[in-house]
Amino acid sequence: MTSDLAALFSLPFMQRALLAAFFTGLAAPAVGTYLVQRRMALMGDGLGHVAVTGVAIGLVTGFAPTWTAVAAAVVGAVAIEVIRERGNTNGDLALALLFYGGLAGGIFVAGLGGETTAGLQQYLFGSITTTSVSDVLVTVALAVAVIVLCVGLGPQLFAITQDQEFAQVAGLNVRAYNLMIAVLAAVSVTVAMRTVGLLLVSALMVIPVATAQQLTRSFRSTLLISMGLGVTASLGGLVVAAVASYQADVAPGATIVLLSLLCFALAWPVGAALRRRERDRVPFPEDQPSDHVPSSTHPHVHGGECGHRAIAHGDHVDYVHDGHRHAPHGSHYDEH
Ligand SMILES: [Zn+2]
Ligand SMILES: [Zn+2]
Ligand SMILES: [Zn+2]
Ligand SMILES: [Zn+2]
Repeated sequence: MTSDLAALFSLPFMQRALLAAFFTGLAAPAVGTYLVQRRMALMGDGLGHVAVTGVAIGLVTGFAPTWTAVAAAVVGAVAIEVIRERGNTNGDLALALLFYGGLAGGIFVAGLGGETTAGLQQYLFGSITTTSVSDVLVTVALAVAVIVLCVGLGPQLFAITQDQEFAQVAGLNVRAYNLMIAVLAAVSVTVAMRTVGLLLVSALMVIPVATAQQLTRSFRSTLLISMGLGVTASLGGLVVAAVASYQADVAPGATIVLLSLLCFALAWPVGAALRRRERDRVPFPEDQPSDHVPSSTHPHVHGGECGHRAIAHGDHVDYVHDGHRHAPHGSHYDEH
């Protein structure tokens, strides 16, 4: 088994695929963090559909599919941004039409050009063996650009995804940054095309982010943890697909997404426990009462292990039960 793996890693196509998977795993969740924050988790999915048309045009005309896919995805991203910015109530529907059109158009163009669906398939679900040296170089270059911008412009992009009006007042060009996020999403869709494929790319943009959000509340840690999870899933998924492909042909897109989901399933209980702890610590928002109102007869003595919810309230601790909260005060309890 170990020698099998060693033999596998020594194959040049596998090394190229691993390199592409490594950078894809970093870039996709980096953009995904902003998309999830803006509640546009499915944008990557839509861009992936639109990019199918780009790939088909590339296959049929003989241009490198990577570049035609980038072009189609960027056009799609700008269209989505324009539709979104208008705030039209039918924007949702317009996006759906764009996405279906992208996928159907791609299959139609590929068919017209005599391409089989099998030729298109490696772009839809990823492929281990078909990444050429120039593909890898382009993938790595584009991924590095995405990663540098996402991490380097983190504070500005975060301000915009958090509160557009505030960012505007603070002097940020919200429109330009929104457009930049859309274009970065389009580019990372193309980056991920060879590894997870266009139909599953969105999963790698969203699931690691959702997993990171189970473990942390901070934006910066979400960004970094999701990138770590993305790399783990895409490298792990690629190796699993390669090993499985000794017996059968397994598309790496499927194993990468399943591995991401497994990480999410493992993080969920941890997140639930963290949320419980945090909820118990949230202080009450109201002001502290100036006077003390002794509670009526209170035989119970509250303490750390009494089982009642304990909440920090100013300089003391309140205990909650039966719709009241009490704070110990000398030998009695005050209603708070
Ligand atoms: Zn008192
Ligand atoms: Zn108690
Ligand atoms: Zn209190
Ligand atoms: Zn009490």
